[in-house]
Amino acid sequence: MKKMEQHEFEYALKMLDVELDKKGMSRRDALKLAGLGTASFLLTGGGQEAEAATTAHASDVQGKIVIVGGGLAGISTAVRLTNYLSNPDITIIEPEKKSVSYQPGQTLIGAGVWEKEEIIYENSEFIPNGAKLINDKAISFDPDNNSLTTQRGQTITYDILIIAAGVKMNFGAIKGLEAAGEAYSAGDNSALVKTLNDAGVSSIYTADGAEATWKNMQTFIADAATGKKVNGVFTHPDTAIKCGGAPKKIMFLTDARLRETKGARENATLTFYPNGSKMFGVPEYHDALVNIFEDRDLKWNYQHNLVAIDGEKRIATFDKRWMEQGEWDPDYEEYDQVEKHEMIDIPYDFIHVTPPMKVPDEIGNSALGSNKGWVLVDYETLQHKKFDNVFALGDIAAIPLGKTGGSVRKQYKVVVDNVIAKLENRPLEAKYDGYTVCPLLTSLSTVMLAEFDWTNKPTPSFPLDPTKERWLWWLLKVYALKPMTVIGMLSTGRA
Ligand SMILES: Cc1cc2nc3c(=O)[nH]c(=O)nc-3n(C[C@H](O)[C@H](O)[C@H](O)COP(=O)(O)OP(=O)(O)OC[C@H]3O[C@@H](n4cnc5c(N)ncnc54)[C@H](O)[C@@H]3O)c2cc1C
Repeated sequence: MKKMEQHEFEYALKMLDVELDKKGMSRRDALKLAGLGTASFLLTGGGQEAEAATTAHASDVQGKIVIVGGGLAGISTAVRLTNYLSNPDITIIEPEKKSVSYQPGQTLIGAGVWEKEEIIYENSEFIPNGAKLINDKAISFDPDNNSLTTQRGQTITYDILIIAAGVKMNFGAIKGLEAAGEAYSAGDNSALVKTLNDAGVSSIYTADGAEATWKNMQTFIADAATGKKVNGVFTHPDTAIKCGGAPKKIMFLTDARLRETKGARENATLTFYPNGSKMFGVPEYHDALVNIFEDRDLKWNYQHNLVAIDGEKRIATFDKRWMEQGEWDPDYEEYDQVEKHEMIDIPYDFIHVTPPMKVPDEIGNSALGSNKGWVLVDYETLQHKKFDNVFALGDIAAIPLGKTGGSVRKQYKVVVDNVIAKLENRPLEAKYDGYTVCPLLTSLSTVMLAEFDWTNKPTPSFPLDPTKERWLWWLLKVYALKPMTVIGMLSTGRA
């Protein structure tokens, strides 16, 4: 572990202990209660991370491994590969010098709990021995000849290619926000934020945008506190998105912040307009979320997709859909169901936009991308469906439910095992089971830890009702999950 991180980690643990102490609880007791006994590095201060179950073994196999994308998935995979390969030959291609490797922190920044600086890292700090970083962008792919080309014209060949290039936020697809274009979470997004700010739009989906969200939220709260009736609008688009819970989390935190200021909450109407027709795919979490919405006087309207923003007039236009009974079908002896649409204008004082998301064009339109762009891999082995020396993981992979850091934490172990097996000409035995986790921040002191997998059932890791909001999960979210990610995955590749 690097010196600065050790210091940061110790500070986080100290804060965790102070909070637990207020309730007369030790860290060991809290982790035991949470069923997190195996997270030994939280008990020992980072020295002895518990190694995860893995089929990988130390290997002398040789092979040139190229990783496209140096975000959470790319770096963690590189680090873990160097744990097992005695002669690693790994190249990471990443255009950004700085990265947001703990993007969940953007939600906390958007609500004024953290500062942006707390989640920005220099990519070069995490490059392990045995790997080199090329600060460039992969722009064309020739998987039949095991090669790719970068923006600066370098041709790079490989034995194994790992695609971990994440998703892009496509704000420009919303009419009125064309100038905002496309963005990654990291990088300099000041121009994007200016375009959004001019239209009164907030979004925690970039680090810069998260910082601006907190400023806009404070203005919204101050207006409500003066007695002005204000309207807060929260959206969820019609594409797959990373962290499906985040659009609701920022709404809960806005509600919580409004309640802190005397006289503000009663003047604010907060409404969620998701494209879908449920709060959450897993029925148990859906029900729990509906209860929270009702309890906090939060409103919602399903099947509304944001299509346009009129920044000057502060109006959001949604494509509203619903089903109506159509013609009688004598063959099936039932009425057809016809989808209807209507454009609805909603005025806003504060709007949090979760943008449509897409695969970067250079990958989505290449031989590696599917019709919709996502990189098609076998759900379990994470091996590309057409090119057997290509693997993909993280947000860019065409895997149901998988766009969270929690999924990456499971997937990178599978990729490492299977890459080594492939180089050794063994069958690919490691399998991803679809696990994902969404710590739903439901207030400024509670989190509902929604864990689930492809069975669409809650899959709690802990012996506690997963549909309950808990202060303990808040502590873990705010103090422990970032060190677990930064140290457990990015620095050591073991968590
Ligand atoms: C607001 C928000 C809240 C979230 N909350 C949670 C949460 O509570 N829990 C949770 O588990 N997850 C959460 N997530 C999701 C989680 O952060 C992501 O799923 C995770 O970061 C995905 O990692 P990745 O490596 O696939 O993508 P990223 O970390 O985004 O990295 C992709 C990298 O690829 C690079 N790249 C792109 N194109 C190219 C190219 N052509 N050539 C080379 N490099 C390229 C990019 O520059 C980038 O650095 C949240 C995300 C956001 C934005």
